[in-house]
Amino acid sequence: MKIVIVGGGWSGCAAAVCAKKGGAEVTLLERTDMLLGTGLVGGIMRNNGRYTATEELIAMGGGEIFKIVDDNSKHKNIEFPGHSHANLYDIGKTPAAVLSYLKEIGVNVVFEARMTKANMEDNSIVSVEDAKGNVYEADVFIDTTGTAGPMNNCTKYGNGCAMCILRCPSFGGRVSLTGLTGIKEYVGKKANGSVGAMSGSCKLYKESLSSEIVEELNTKGVAVIPIPEELIEDHLDIKACQQYALKEFKKNVILLDTGHAKLMTPYYELAKLRMIPGFENARYEDPYAGGKGNSMRYFAMAPRDNKLKVEGVNNLFCAGEKAGLLVGHTEAIVTGTLAAYNSVKFYKGEEQLEIPRQLAIGEAIAYVKEQMETEEGLSKKYTFSGSVLFDRMKELGLYTINNSDIKNKVEELQLKDIFSYKTEVPSELNLQGAK
Ligand SMILES: Cc1cc2nc3c(=O)[nH]c(=O)nc-3n(C[C@H](O)[C@H](O)[C@H](O)COP(=O)(O)OP(=O)(O)OC[C@H]3O[C@@H](n4cnc5c(N)ncnc54)[C@H](O)[C@@H]3O)c2cc1C
Repeated sequence: MKIVIVGGGWSGCAAAVCAKKGGAEVTLLERTDMLLGTGLVGGIMRNNGRYTATEELIAMGGGEIFKIVDDNSKHKNIEFPGHSHANLYDIGKTPAAVLSYLKEIGVNVVFEARMTKANMEDNSIVSVEDAKGNVYEADVFIDTTGTAGPMNNCTKYGNGCAMCILRCPSFGGRVSLTGLTGIKEYVGKKANGSVGAMSGSCKLYKESLSSEIVEELNTKGVAVIPIPEELIEDHLDIKACQQYALKEFKKNVILLDTGHAKLMTPYYELAKLRMIPGFENARYEDPYAGGKGNSMRYFAMAPRDNKLKVEGVNNLFCAGEKAGLLVGHTEAIVTGTLAAYNSVKFYKGEEQLEIPRQLAIGEAIAYVKEQMETEEGLSKKYTFSGSVLFDRMKELGLYTINNSDIKNKVEELQLKDIFSYKTEVPSELNLQGAK
């Protein structure tokens, strides 16, 4: 059983772990020289409903990646405006920790392998090729190429290439596997109807900030600095991460400590930023042109069912942003795990899993699919950590931070350790019966 995963962001890494546990020979292709994709500059975990989704996946036996993240967290259980019980992983250490784990379990990680061609037979992918002409054959493929960039999209729909961590000029831009098979993909919109969404945070070098701010970040993990009225910029509407589109994020500079200082706004004019006390020497670490813009995302999402099988191709699954307007590392990790699990089941001809809507993860996957079929739904973003999906979780009683309640529910649904392949997919009857 050979599974090729295209894209080494959080969804691809989680898929690799789960596919390997299922007994597959796994190759993970990544176009750059580092794993984690946009997760290289992220860091926020377990905030609000992401806590629930994380513990659900752990109870289902898919917690390996979350353990690495928890082990590499700089701050745990912190609060910042609108967000509770967040962990912040160290963006310096975590990528290497994930890579060594994948190597340890025997995943074949290939860097600088930018997939640019899909070879098809009878509506199935037989192999993919990278830009150097290397061919990778497999039985099942998983598209985890994300939705960010490439540069022409950032130029056309954003403020130009801001020189972000995706480094398109050096490694070549994103290429979608689903797109190469000829399947028409969904395009996300902003609230005003224009295409795409801008990434919602930047990184500042801590050493360019005042010692008071650095001290606060190092000790508390968070620093909230009011912005003088005349310097306020408003970028809330264009943000990909609607969970941070709150007035507090406009009126204050909100910094989080992920190793660098994560600045919770898509961009902020450097000259203005330097007028705020403590920021006189501020410098951007990511994107380099964080004073002007940020990466643009949500251009190419695959039509898929709730088992994460891409509709229209026999042996292709998808996860992460590719699987819909889902924002976040947690969202990528849970969908990556499910896509890989179902890839293994598909290969074996066994029953595949649709996570029931009694769990936050199942609700997210099904709800996003429904929403993406409407014009209005395409202009929103969905995350366990805020905005519409978190509101919905609360309304439906799906949000809890009580680990034993989560474990009990997972057990009741007969999904305990399912991602360790220790149990079979329960019948629909059992799934419906559980409270
Ligand atoms: C600046 C920024 C900050 C963020 N902060 C947070 C945060 O703090 N917390 C949070 O939960 N979420 C955060 N997010 C959102 C989160 O990072 C993403 O939603 C999630 O990680 C997406 O994962 P993914 O695997 O779907 O895609 P990506 O992270 O985009 O990964 C896709 C990978 O595929 C590779 N790829 C693309 N095309 C090809 C190809 N043809 N061949 C081979 N490889 C290819 C890319 O190089 C990339 O590594 C942030 C996003 C950004 C941009």
